[in-house]
Amino acid sequence: MNSPVQKIKERLSIEEVVSSYIKLEKSGANLKARCPFHNEKTPSFFVSPSRGSYYCFGCAAKGDIFTFIEEFEGLDFKGALKLLAGRAGVSLQNFNPEMESEKEKLYKIMEDATSYFVKNLEENEEILKYLKTRGLSIGTIKDFRIGFAKLDWRGLYSYLIAKNWKEFELEKAGLIKKTEKDLPVGRQGFYDRFRGRIIFPISDSSGRVIAFSGRIFVDDGKSAKYLNSPDTPIFSKSSVLYGLDRAKESIRKNNFSILVEGQMDLILSHQAGYKNTVASSGTALSDSTISRENVISNLGLVRRLSENIVLAFDGDKAGFNASTRAGKIALSLGMDVKVAALPPSVDPADLISKSGVPAWKKAIKNSKHLIEFFLDKILENGINDNRRIGREIKEKILPYVNAVESSIEKMHFLKKISDTTGIPEEALKDDLKKVEQELKFEQIAEEKVVPSQVFRKDYIEKRLLGIVLWQKTLLEQKIDAEKILKKISEILNIEINMLLEKTANSKEDLIFEAEVFYGSDVDLKKDVKELLDNLEEEYLKEKLLRKIQELHFSEEKKEKERTGQILKEISEINNKIQSIKNGRLKMNT
Ligand SMILES: [Zn+2]
Repeated sequence: MNSPVQKIKERLSIEEVVSSYIKLEKSGANLKARCPFHNEKTPSFFVSPSRGSYYCFGCAAKGDIFTFIEEFEGLDFKGALKLLAGRAGVSLQNFNPEMESEKEKLYKIMEDATSYFVKNLEENEEILKYLKTRGLSIGTIKDFRIGFAKLDWRGLYSYLIAKNWKEFELEKAGLIKKTEKDLPVGRQGFYDRFRGRIIFPISDSSGRVIAFSGRIFVDDGKSAKYLNSPDTPIFSKSSVLYGLDRAKESIRKNNFSILVEGQMDLILSHQAGYKNTVASSGTALSDSTISRENVISNLGLVRRLSENIVLAFDGDKAGFNASTRAGKIALSLGMDVKVAALPPSVDPADLISKSGVPAWKKAIKNSKHLIEFFLDKILENGINDNRRIGREIKEKILPYVNAVESSIEKMHFLKKISDTTGIPEEALKDDLKKVEQELKFEQIAEEKVVPSQVFRKDYIEKRLLGIVLWQKTLLEQKIDAEKILKKISEILNIEINMLLEKTANSKEDLIFEAEVFYGSDVDLKKDVKELLDNLEEEYLKEKLLRKIQELHFSEEKKEKERTGQILKEISEINNKIQSIKNGRLKMNT
């Protein structure tokens, strides 16, 4: 029997899938593009329609339609499967119901909860009226599946328990909370997390509801205005951009994205026709507890669709900080960052509902480059105080100029600043050098890890471990699982126990994925050999990267002996990588 994976591959070509995200050009029998997974100016990303695969000569990204969707959309395998099955019109329904994992259950619970909230809203005239006064149309309310959590203690709880979900599952989904222990018996137990709130479902990029954001309806003065789901096995506050599932098409088509802060901003912007709008998860981008890597992976996803982004945050301080942090990182990713021209202290939602769509259109149209935006702010505040302007430019603007990736653009901005302020370009260049020096330490600390590369090794490792775990569940193994496990541990230099520990939380998912991929008649031995080779290659490449960094340091410090040693190590690693490549060549001819 054909597996769903095979059916999907038969119906969707690699060309069709990839070109729905990035623009492909013909190149002989293949197609090429600028790589979506690393930053480059000349195309080294190739798609082979005959093989159904892609490969990048710049960063070694490679795979099929499934890995492409996983990496591009930041989804797990099941998410990619769901998304592609939907596009191909392949049903997944009768597939492996007994293997339902914890995550799968949580997605279903969230879906049930969404229906409950939506029904509550439909029956509540008062809320509907309120949403209409905020400028939302009935169509939009339905489309975004906006709901309402009544001011009951256990409304959702009772509804979901009646649907045969278990208490612990609802707790895991972040929908209910336990009362404090010291309450009298009889009043202990679980209660709904969201109460008296308008509910906005948050979806991942394949459209599955993974969390809720609740906006308070009756303000009691002590509850937070916004309440979000806690981190759960299917939701991480730090890594989600709201609305990406709806925005990606339009971002690609219009070749720019708009980043707003809140749910209402997002929804009203979509309603106003700007479907290329995504929202940062509340404070995620300005929150310093969220790591730089997470901001990068959030923005990286958007960058793959288009390099142009317009930030449209509140004029208040938090919004300003969010835009500065997101802006600096976006600049360093090589993006073209603009700031929307919003009136002071007005957020996009207010602007659209009070001043109408044309005002929003104008704010987007008149957006300015981030650096010009800051420059104007400083000039407005420091009229006639040249020393102050000079100081502020060095402190507040040059770090952003430094973050710009291209040196041509850096020069362009220095000229612009010079033209506007009268400060000579040479003086600005000197100051920029100083800023560069000062920031160098910071940059070394945040060493530029290419997230997708790290991801690739982990990805191969997970795939292999999935095969091992799956084979162990079978009476008749097609391969020697123990032997492979040992091999993985040798390649990665990690003990077997540690390897297995890493998979403890995702065991069922990994087994599922392996079975879907390798369950029907494929040459498992050959595939495993290839995966092991790839794993070793990726591991060696990472090691090589570290050694090259060490080399720079030791050369800088003029440590001759050390430099010689590192060079020798580098050549050994290179030889190993080469011999893996040669072995692959032999196998294919
Ligand atoms: Zn690449």
